[in-house]
Amino acid sequence: HDAREVGTGISFYSAASDDAHRRAYQILAALPLALAGNQLHLHFQPRIALESGACVAAEALVRWDHPELGVISPLEFIPLIEQTALIGTLTDWVIENALSSVVKLRSAGHDLRISVNVSPVSTAEAGFDRRLLRHCADRNLPASAIELEFTEGALLAHAKRTFSNLETLRAAGMAVAIDDFGSGYSNLAYLDQLPANVLKIDRTFMSSIRRPGGSDYLLRQMIDIGHTLGFRICAEGVETVNAYRYLQDLGCEEGQGFYMAAPMRFEHFTRWLQSVPSYG
Ligand code: C2E
Ligand code: MG
Ligand code: MG
Ligand code: MG
Repeated sequence: HDAREVGTGISFYSAASDDAHRRAYQILAALPLALAGNQLHLHFQPRIALESGACVAAEALVRWDHPELGVISPLEFIPLIEQTALIGTLTDWVIENALSSVVKLRSAGHDLRISVNVSPVSTAEAGFDRRLLRHCADRNLPASAIELEFTEGALLAHAKRTFSNLETLRAAGMAVAIDDFGSGYSNLAYLDQLPANVLKIDRTFMSSIRRPGGSDYLLRQMIDIGHTLGFRICAEGVETVNAYRYLQDLGCEEGQGFYMAAPMRFEHFTRWLQSVPSYG
């Protein structure tokens, strides 16, 4: 990242970029072992129906605890792994673990769905739809127990092959969400055509709520457009009671954020579910 690039595509040597490359290489080299061993686990973050305050879903977020490098953020290792064939192994691992978690939750009486972040590199594979539906059926899970989250840009970049897979999954009742909506170059013309039914509004839009006098018209417009197009809307990054109440007033269906709960280990999440506090 630190290599200074010029229009010709030539990049100059810099020590910082050398370090970054070394770390990237170290991470990539360690991934097969992390996937085979038990260095990866999932955290779960509650998604709350703003009107009732009930926990209706949880987002599964991968965590990597490296023995020497410490906790490595998915923001760092996902983009690296996406450039390799290992992304398929990671996606399978995440889905496998998310499915067995939702089975445990449902048998404990918690009727919620789990959302997973999937790389469109994986969903572009032929047969992704059939395999995922078979995994659900094998566990007696309805497809509606799972939601797939994609960023808009990623989805469009792989449009041709992901769309038909996602359309099959949508038809089977699985939820599909556009993640981080508004954070990239949102294309409103395409929004209508995406095989998705949930819009997750990026947390950057929540800052206007925090600032007194901050302009929140973008947030209001996004919620209106989303509703017009028939999306269920989930706001990301709900960090304050003010934000919660404000979103509730705007008719936003769901919220997720540190105000309600941070992502937590499965055991912690199941305990948290025993006594969901009241919000708003
Ligand atoms: P994301 O899907 O947008 O996930 C939400 C991120 O926001 C999470 O970061 C979460 O910890 C953080 N967050 C939640 N509530 C708040 C809040 O109130 N305030 C703030 N400031 N942040 C909040 P995390 O866990 O570091 O994940 C980062 C990204 O990594 C995810 O963004 C997702 O794109 C990707 N990712 C995570 N797990 C997986 C995975 O299993 N597979 C793939 N392909 N990508 C993943
Ligand atoms: Mg997500
Ligand atoms: Mg997100
Ligand atoms: Mg995000």
